[in-house]
Amino acid sequence: MSAAVLEKLRAGIRRFRTEVYPGHEETYIEAASKPQRPSALIVACADSRIDPELITQSGPGELFVTRNIGNLVPASGEMLGGVSAVIEYAVSAPGVQHIVVCGHSDCGAMKGLLEPEAVAQMPTVENWLKNAHTALSVAKALAQKDERPSELKRRVTEQNVLLQLQHLRTHPSVAGAMAKGELTISGWVYDIGSGEVRIFEEGDSVFVPVEVEEVKA
Ligand SMILES: [Zn+2]
Repeated sequence: MSAAVLEKLRAGIRRFRTEVYPGHEETYIEAASKPQRPSALIVACADSRIDPELITQSGPGELFVTRNIGNLVPASGEMLGGVSAVIEYAVSAPGVQHIVVCGHSDCGAMKGLLEPEAVAQMPTVENWLKNAHTALSVAKALAQKDERPSELKRRVTEQNVLLQLQHLRTHPSVAGAMAKGELTISGWVYDIGSGEVRIFEEGDSVFVPVEVEEVKA
C-alpha cells in the first residue's frame, strides 16, 4: 500500500518534469539564478486541502510559507522553534513586507480546541494547541445563546487568526519592522468548499471577503 503512495508521488514528479516544467522553464531558471526575494510570508495550516500558492496564484520565489497544525504562531519566548525561526528569518533576511496568518474552514485543530477529547491521545498536538486556547475563550464569550456548533467553529477559527496576529506582534523582528513602517500583517480565513477568502486588515472590525467580478463556471 505505502509503496503505491510513493509510486503515485513519483508519477506526479514525472508529470511535473515533462508537462509543467517545460512551460515555465525560464521562470524556474530565473528563480534559481538569484537570491529569493519573497514579498510575503504566509503562516497556514498543515491541512492537506490548503495550498497558499494556488489560492494566491503565486509562483516560485513569491511566497515564504510555513505551515503547522492550526496556523499557530506561539508568542515570542513561548516556544523556541520552527515558527519563531521562520518569522525572524523571513523578516530579517529576504525582508518580507507582509505577513499573513491564514486559517480555514473545517480545521481539525479548531475541532481539537472545541472537543479536547479528540486530541487526548495526541499529547504533542494537545500541548501545541495551548497556543490557541485564548481564542476558544474569546469565541465562547462572544457566542450567542444556543449558537449552532458550525457557527461557534467559524467564530473560533476567526478568533484564532486574530489571536495569532497578536502573537505575531510580540516577536521583536515583527514589532521592529512594523514600527519602521516596513511590514504589515493581515489575517485570512479560506473556505475550502467555496474557494472564498475573507481578510482582516489592521483597523478592520470584521473579516471582509475578497471581491471577485464573476466566478467562471
Ligand atoms: Zn487546519
